[in-house]
Amino acid sequence: MDASSKGEGEVPKKARKNAGLILLPLGSSPRLPAQGLHAFPTILNILVLLWAICEGSTTWFGIVTVFLMSYVYTDYWMWLLHCYLDRVENLSSKVPPLLKAATSFQKHHDFPKTVLEDNHVGSIYEMGVLGAMFCIVSAPWTSPLVKVFCVSVTLFGSLAAANHFFCHAATHKHQIPLFYTVCHRYGLLPPPRHHKIHHTAPFEKFWNFLSGFYFIYEPIYRATGESYYLLHTLFYATNPLAVQLWVLMAVNCR
Ligand SMILES: [Zn+2]
Ligand SMILES: [Zn+2]
Repeated sequence: MDASSKGEGEVPKKARKNAGLILLPLGSSPRLPAQGLHAFPTILNILVLLWAICEGSTTWFGIVTVFLMSYVYTDYWMWLLHCYLDRVENLSSKVPPLLKAATSFQKHHDFPKTVLEDNHVGSIYEMGVLGAMFCIVSAPWTSPLVKVFCVSVTLFGSLAAANHFFCHAATHKHQIPLFYTVCHRYGLLPPPRHHKIHHTAPFEKFWNFLSGFYFIYEPIYRATGESYYLLHTLFYATNPLAVQLWVLMAVNCR
């Protein structure tokens, strides 16, 4: 174990029970909680997808393009979210959900093994529910492709959270699903050794959860002097709900 990393190498004493029914399974390791998206966000996202299919009028080219765009966006958003929530400034935030999320992210540096005690994909529950609900409410005014984008972001977000769990599981010598081993080997998802560097003091690199474009974001972030205000602005202006709102305004205010 690296002397400057915290807590890795220790196996959690006992796994907590999963809270809630998993409808979208994303893999499991022996003796660890199963990973997957819970019923409510899964059902909401299926409804959004069905709505998009019923509307028709899209081409496969459009769907594939939006699917790839949603990968790039999710990669960016999860990198930004992680980098922003790791900032100590947020530990004195007056916004309770932000304070709670930042505390949780930074506690993960102190107690990394506790991620193995739960269904970690449950951490994107709110993102999956709020994104889908906004999409359903605004459905009459948005295109089917916006709905595909919304569902894809939840899907990639779930995959990223599951991979984070399996990176820690592999670090603790647990057997992980073949899918993740193959993705690690071919660079399709960040491998355990990559994520472990993030868990090594001073915790100031590799905020990515998908393989993506962190090697572009991180030099830009440093070139801005690691500006907290830039992260803060981007957090509010480019989160998944804001993106849907911008698209809604762009489509309907012409
Ligand atoms: Zn972190
Ligand atoms: Zn971690």
